[in-house]
Amino acid sequence: MVTRHFDIMIVGAGIVGAALAATLRHSGLNLALIDPRPPHEPTVDWDTRIYAISPGSVALLQHVNAWQRIDSSRLTPVHAMQVHGDRNARLVLDAIQSGVPQLAWIAEAGQIQHALWQTLVEQPNLTIFCPGQGRSLHWSAQQARLELDDGQCLSADLVVAADGRASWVREQAGIIARRDDYHQSGVVANFSCERPHRHIARQWFRDDGILAWLPLSDRAISMVWSTPAEHAGRLLAYTPEQLAQQVATAGQHALGKLQALGQAAAFPLSLLRVNPIVRPGLALIGDAAHGVHPLSGQGVNLGLRDVSELAAVLLDRQAARCGDLPLLERYARARRADILTTQSVTDGLYHLFHHQHPLLTRLRNIGLNTVARLDPVKSWLVQQSLI
Ligand SMILES: Cc1cc2nc3c(=O)[nH]c(=O)nc-3n(C[C@H](O)[C@H](O)[C@H](O)COP(=O)(O)OP(=O)(O)OC[C@H]3O[C@@H](n4cnc5c(N)ncnc54)[C@H](O)[C@@H]3O)c2cc1C
Repeated sequence: MVTRHFDIMIVGAGIVGAALAATLRHSGLNLALIDPRPPHEPTVDWDTRIYAISPGSVALLQHVNAWQRIDSSRLTPVHAMQVHGDRNARLVLDAIQSGVPQLAWIAEAGQIQHALWQTLVEQPNLTIFCPGQGRSLHWSAQQARLELDDGQCLSADLVVAADGRASWVREQAGIIARRDDYHQSGVVANFSCERPHRHIARQWFRDDGILAWLPLSDRAISMVWSTPAEHAGRLLAYTPEQLAQQVATAGQHALGKLQALGQAAAFPLSLLRVNPIVRPGLALIGDAAHGVHPLSGQGVNLGLRDVSELAAVLLDRQAARCGDLPLLERYARARRADILTTQSVTDGLYHLFHHQHPLLTRLRNIGLNTVARLDPVKSWLVQQSLI
């Protein structure tokens, strides 16, 4: 069978892989994008996967003409964030006080993926292999060779692994990922609420985990409850009415009575450290390159920052080939600090609030209340959420 050659093969068309393909639209590079399944058509029901998208990520999605394609009635700006510690400690981050129109936008994963897909199917320098799944992948000195399940053979100067946490490409390359299990699941569900949320995202650090309520339009919220696996199992076993009651109580009835919208789902949580994230002819992006606790809502945002950096390096490659290691190392170096900081901060916060030692309990609440009084520190925290 004839082998089709590309400059870059992107394996995985989740938000991160799709965004990279779209960002390289005017690059003059010949691209292949491979994924076993296309995104679902959006429906009137809310998606169970709902993300806080930072303004920096919004700018990237606007730049590739995807954000504009999302039904604006399904996008909700976040005007403030309330973080509640135990013992009534509280930190409030406010958009107006921080001089920005909103801290983030809340959007459905399915809506973002569908919007990206619509831009990709019109992209002249892109060939989409979907449904497509790799059977074997090998690198030689000059190129990588991918055989798909249906027997098609593709080759490329560079393979980009964007195939998520359990990356098949990473495994084929023999790159070890260190996984630290949080022994928690992220239980996600949506609810309508009795009282308006006033565009405030709320988060409680509780003995049984971290509960987050993200505002949706139409007086509704999306919940992420990161909680021990055994408690997650109990939450999933409740009837919708029982779950709504538990979640309302855990959130101190801040929005009155809640009513479940659709089914709850749970995702196991772990910290994933991957090193290296580049090899000759290979670059890892998104969850294939790093995994973080969802308490700061940073996973997709971190992945989209990989996209910006890798695209910038590829566009500025001059005489280099896309798979050249010195070029790819520029990407890895540029991403190192952001990835390490996000992993350390989210992991540190998880451990700080996970332990029940009385001294730690006191320290963390003093910490929250002190930060609440220090405007420059608060501004810094806001800036972190805006990149
Ligand atoms: C409970 C929870 C809440 C979260 N909340 C937020 C939030 O508020 N904000 C935020 O930024 N992040 C959040 N995240 C993180 C976010 O879900 C991930 O960071 C994000 O999905 C990573 O995107 P990705 O495109 O790298 O990987 P994925 O979304 O996993 O996409 C991988 C793609 O690769 C494809 N694929 C898999 N295997 C293969 C293969 N062998 N060949 C070809 N294709 C393949 C898959 O079909 C898929 O399309 C949350 C995560 C959890 C668990």
